[in-house]
Amino acid sequence: MLILIICVLYIVWAIYRNQPTIIINKSPVDYFDEKQLIVFKERDPNFSRIVFLDFVHLLYVKYYSYYGKKDFDYLTPYLSDTVQHDKTLDLLIGQQVIIISEIVINSVRLFSITRTADEDRIGVEIESNYTVHPAFHTEASGKQHTRYARSERWFFQRKKSLQSLPPEKMQALSCPSCGAAAHFTDAGECKSCKTVIIKGQQQWYVKDRVVLNQSVLNSGDLVAYAEEQGTNLPTLSSPTLLQEIAAFEKQRTIVWSDYWNTFKQQIVQPYFLELNAAWTNHNLTKVRHLISDRLYDANSFWMELYSHYRFNNRLDDLKIQDIQLVKIELDKYYETITVRVFASCFDYTEDSNKKIIAGSNKKRRAYSEYWTFARRAGVEQNETGFDLNSCPQCGAHADKMGQSAICEYCGSKISTGQFSWVLFLITQDENYRG
Ligand SMILES: [Zn+2]
Ligand SMILES: [Zn+2]
Repeated sequence: MLILIICVLYIVWAIYRNQPTIIINKSPVDYFDEKQLIVFKERDPNFSRIVFLDFVHLLYVKYYSYYGKKDFDYLTPYLSDTVQHDKTLDLLIGQQVIIISEIVINSVRLFSITRTADEDRIGVEIESNYTVHPAFHTEASGKQHTRYARSERWFFQRKKSLQSLPPEKMQALSCPSCGAAAHFTDAGECKSCKTVIIKGQQQWYVKDRVVLNQSVLNSGDLVAYAEEQGTNLPTLSSPTLLQEIAAFEKQRTIVWSDYWNTFKQQIVQPYFLELNAAWTNHNLTKVRHLISDRLYDANSFWMELYSHYRFNNRLDDLKIQDIQLVKIELDKYYETITVRVFASCFDYTEDSNKKIIAGSNKKRRAYSEYWTFARRAGVEQNETGFDLNSCPQCGAHADKMGQSAICEYCGSKISTGQFSWVLFLITQDENYRG
């Protein structure tokens, strides 16, 4: 599924013609030095990687959805003057009225943490896709729509020595001063409290951004099967894994070996099998509460794209070969566990006449993925009796979670990890950087 598509994105990665100068063809292979994060968290113990990356995701999607529209003003407190302009998009807008939609992030990760005399700075690497439509179909606008794949770096900045805001204030783009929903003038004045927001004084803002690569994505790319690239690579376990296990044992008062067996059996295996079954059956309803909002959006998008072309990607007879522990991260708000899952299946794509157009139903394909699960710190629920078909809060059948993972029986939002483990990230083995 996603594995293939992402591999394919790499293959079709070519320098798109007629690019303005901001695009440099550089492959994102640099590793993040985790020591930078450890040092940074000593200064800001409220920092949570998973919360921050979710904030980046939110801002990124809004940036593209609002670009060229009046609503873009809502983002002014989060964007420097320079990043409010994108040469490629301006060029497209100059030629015709366009709409940007279906923004999907395939991966987002920390890239660097540095500081200047006055500011802290975090670099993030983002790989995404989005569609550009002409608002009105004209002779000049030619093709109805074009799908782009982009890889870019965003550099966030804020005043030195600030403390991070709690998740509730990071999960929505609200006014950092009064907390009201983001409604700003183009000068950055909050329409609720009239405060002019000075960028970086309370919250992160995007100082610079660089587009590393951009390419046009075609429907044929969906079924162009790439050989697995990273299955045989060694597992990138955290260099401080033993200390991480010890810290987790202490926080939870558990014995790791017992906990790990339960976690594999009750969480990783069932989530992995259910999610893949949901993909094959084109229905995410049963697994909605098991995955984060961003992961749900991305999966729904790919699923709809396959159905649009009437392709059916099947993952038959899926078997898990091995599950390896990679990293445990504890912060003030979340605990996250990253594992590497080795699996194999008959992975193939049929067209509407059930003709196999890619992959094979005779030869098994072996692959591996890094999965990151997260849960709010302090959740006491025991994994032993965990039932993925029930709401972890009220115990009712998990059949009415809607699109936003709010249980209709008890009204609780499940997909933020408030009550149980939620899958936040899936990273392909060849893309995982620790
Ligand atoms: Zn305000
Ligand atoms: Zn419930």
